[in-house]
Amino acid sequence: MTETQTQTPLSYADLLASVVPAEGGREILDPATGEVVGRAPEHTAADLDAAVAAARAAQPAWAALGHERRAEYLTRAADAVEASAEALAELLSREQGKPLNGPNARFEVGACAAWLRTTAAFELAPEVLVDDGGGRAELHYRPLGVVGAIGPWNWPMMISVWQLAPALRMGNTVVMKPSEYTPLSVLALARVLNEVLPEGVLHVVSGGREVGEGLAAHPGVDKIMFTGSTATGKAIIRSSADTVKRLTLELGGNDAGIVLPDADPAAIAQDLFWGAFINTGQTCAALKRLYVHEDLYEAVCQALTAVAAQMPMGVGLEETNVLGPLQNKAQFDIVASLVQAAKDAGARVLVGGDPDPDQPGYFYPTTLVADIANDNPLVAREQFGPALPIIKYSSIEEAVAMANALDVGLGASVWGTDLEAARAVAARIQAGTVWINKHGAVDPRVPFGGAKQSGYGLEFGVEGLKHLGAPQVISY
Ligand code: NAD
Repeated sequence: MTETQTQTPLSYADLLASVVPAEGGREILDPATGEVVGRAPEHTAADLDAAVAAARAAQPAWAALGHERRAEYLTRAADAVEASAEALAELLSREQGKPLNGPNARFEVGACAAWLRTTAAFELAPEVLVDDGGGRAELHYRPLGVVGAIGPWNWPMMISVWQLAPALRMGNTVVMKPSEYTPLSVLALARVLNEVLPEGVLHVVSGGREVGEGLAAHPGVDKIMFTGSTATGKAIIRSSADTVKRLTLELGGNDAGIVLPDADPAAIAQDLFWGAFINTGQTCAALKRLYVHEDLYEAVCQALTAVAAQMPMGVGLEETNVLGPLQNKAQFDIVASLVQAAKDAGARVLVGGDPDPDQPGYFYPTTLVADIANDNPLVAREQFGPALPIIKYSSIEEAVAMANALDVGLGASVWGTDLEAARAVAARIQAGTVWINKHGAVDPRVPFGGAKQSGYGLEFGVEGLKHLGAPQVISY
């Protein structure tokens, strides 16, 4: 690791060439154009075993470095991400589909550096639990060993950093399994990080669901960090049971937002829009169902429609766009079928809802749907795309009951001018995070995790670090 290496920016061509296999591999297509982005390696069970063995071999020396040295490595890793930020953002945009601009590809790469830097700076001192003359008990957090990190396709680089940064900081080594839809982004991120990290501490195995299953069941892996769907989370609980692995599960959500009667529609419309449509709606903690009091229902619908009309959607590499395609055909079909279900039930489409069959790529237009029942599939299921249902309510009781009616509870939000009234409603919502007058604003210093079937365990902050450690009491 030298200063010069951390400062050297990689070009897009060099970065891509360094992660595609010399021969073979699976073609990865740009979801906006259908063009080939590159080929991803298809690793085998033997490759997985080799990666786990190498991670195990490297772990004692990495743990022995201590917190301060590991924090230095993470800071250098942040520098390396920043040095190659443009190449990383371009690859992410081509592979995932998200535009360079807006809260998208450049933003995601910036978040990777920010999370690495912030995670490096935390202090995790042993806690003295008892020290009363009769005895002393201290709580320490030791490394777990090897951490398996299984990720989704929506924020592939950022979520990988959410998993690997605290894992490495705590003295674990890491084997990542990226989504089969976005492996190149994660391979490229690891390539950049491995310029500065010691050999053997960070590995990527690229492949499909069977590689994820193999990692979750592997006897050489001590913990799984998983971000993805609730159905896969349940499968991981089952396949990790025989080895009693520690798990952090960040699963699906269907976040509710409640607009209180005293809210100012014009003032909140832009933030409501981005709360719902960040990453073209393909975000775990995006606003996915919006409950608006009847007194300002039409005003909010109008204000949101006006904001939606100003947001250009298109190919990610065109600098003017801030919304992109769905990442894959399966997700496009889910969004299309849910909007169709809303139309079939007589809901009012305020904007969108009518994809152009002649347009290449998986573009689904920005869609707002009003006058829709709470049990309509567009409300009750996670759409994970650019289609927001807006539901009218007449009493706070009714709004809270509708918000809490589902078996998931990742995030939620309350919007209004009386902060105390908003806080009182927030306290009644079953979700891991409730934002007030914003939605989805995650922060590397603030713990984040789901309620109900949105998962368990916490990420971020010092609490997040603790979840990557083995608690040990020393008592005398
Ligand atoms: P997914 O569950 O289909 O896939 C996620 C990863 O799990 C992929 O790498 C996949 O190959 C792997 N996988 C699939 N089956 C597996 C198995 N049986 N064992 C082990 N690994 C397996 O999720 P997705 O479609 O990529 O992501 C979208 C979902 O993720 C949405 O529901 C979204 O809400 C959720 N998500 C949650 C968060 C959060 O922080 N809570 C963040 C982003 C996305």
